[in-house]
Amino acid sequence: MRQPTVYLLSCGDELLFGHTLDTNSAWLAQECTLLGWRIVGHRTIGDVTPDIVGAFLDAASRADVVIVTGGLGPTRDDRTRNGLAHAMGVSLFEDPEAVEEIAARFRQFKRPMGENNKLQALIPEGAKRIFNPAGTAPGIEADLLGARVFCVPGVPKEMRAMFDQTIRPHLTGAPGATSEYMRRLHLCGCGESEIGAMLQPLMRERSNPEISTTVAETIVTVRLYANGATLDEAKRVAGEAEKEVRAILGGDIYGVDGETLQEAVYRLLKERGAKVVTAESCTGGMVAAMLVDVPGVSDVFLDGVVAYANETKTRRLGVPAEIIEKYGAVSRETARAMAETQLRAGTFPAPVYALATTGVAGPDGGTPEKPVGTVWIACSRLDPDGHGLTRTTLFNTVSDRHGIRLRSANAALDLLRRTILDIPVRSEVEDFTW
Ligand code: ATP
Ligand code: MG
Repeated sequence: MRQPTVYLLSCGDELLFGHTLDTNSAWLAQECTLLGWRIVGHRTIGDVTPDIVGAFLDAASRADVVIVTGGLGPTRDDRTRNGLAHAMGVSLFEDPEAVEEIAARFRQFKRPMGENNKLQALIPEGAKRIFNPAGTAPGIEADLLGARVFCVPGVPKEMRAMFDQTIRPHLTGAPGATSEYMRRLHLCGCGESEIGAMLQPLMRERSNPEISTTVAETIVTVRLYANGATLDEAKRVAGEAEKEVRAILGGDIYGVDGETLQEAVYRLLKERGAKVVTAESCTGGMVAAMLVDVPGVSDVFLDGVVAYANETKTRRLGVPAEIIEKYGAVSRETARAMAETQLRAGTFPAPVYALATTGVAGPDGGTPEKPVGTVWIACSRLDPDGHGLTRTTLFNTVSDRHGIRLRSANAALDLLRRTILDIPVRSEVEDFTW
């Protein structure tokens, strides 16, 4: 059976010009989706009658239900009711019950009712008013081109109250309405386009589940958006697709749904009884701070140094001054020494990992050889037999100072995760055993 559809219209110049953020549509879209309806469009229109009429006709021809917010106020610039009447080809009439409802509200608040407020009692012929439990403006319910149209005020509190009282019951349990389920799989260390190319055979439009990707600060999320007759069915559909995605992306996936990269790292270290220390230059403690976000991290996190000045890298971490002199502070060799030297000193009990970052966070300080966004990352491991491994990689990104630091911190945690699991790193790495 076809899934029933909703189209959302937001009316008001303040929304169109960007003075007010359209939070109503976001809220309504989520509620309708949870009720198993498919959102087929959102549109924002200004307070211009012909635009409103056109939008009404278009929306009603595309969806089973149209929900309109805004433009029902008592002023001349509130034109939703006129627009709807035009679209329906009828005139407005004064609904005596609506007049009485509005008058009762004003009596309740002991305020005089203005002639303008009577405008709010006008509804198109053939339409019904919707009671407003939270304000004066009644809503309007009407049929247009076979679609059911609900108009409610833009004030978020009133809109929500009227949705709950009148629109939600209409949407609940509609034939064909499905249960929706969203599963999210997170990855770091590969580009969104790379992942998109790998998943291309699965990313079919209007398939169930629908598979899509988003990226935020180098964390790529694959969304599996499934529906089914019941929630269990939707979960089963998502679960099948997850198996297919995992067969392609495998170890690149670090977590699901609300899990963060640092939580994944924490879990892996804890399972292995391993510890971690950090030595940060350009990230300035972000890697440590992200780890410390995880409750219980004291089980695995031993020490974090922010070694910003060259002299500090030498004094606190034991990086030989000659290495910094010869290769520069931003280099594979310096990153390697920042991570490795402290583990070689035997200060920390094995198994233990060290993560180091050194780079150019900008906006100044870039050179043609080392432009802003050049970050060297090293991850060392000291094994109980006294041997070790250091893995180094060059991370490059284009962003502002905060973005470069945040992305580098993510890249460092991802390098640690891949080193723990011994899975390939997608950027070029050089390994040193010692
Ligand atoms: P009223 O009868 O109270 O005048 P209305 O239907 O005329 O309601 P508007 O005048 O469009 O509504 O807006 C009233 C208030 O609600 C304003 O503060 C406006 O910023 C806010 N608002 C309107 N539309 C939205 C929306 N889509 N998202 C969030 N806030 C909104
Ligand atoms: Mg208004």
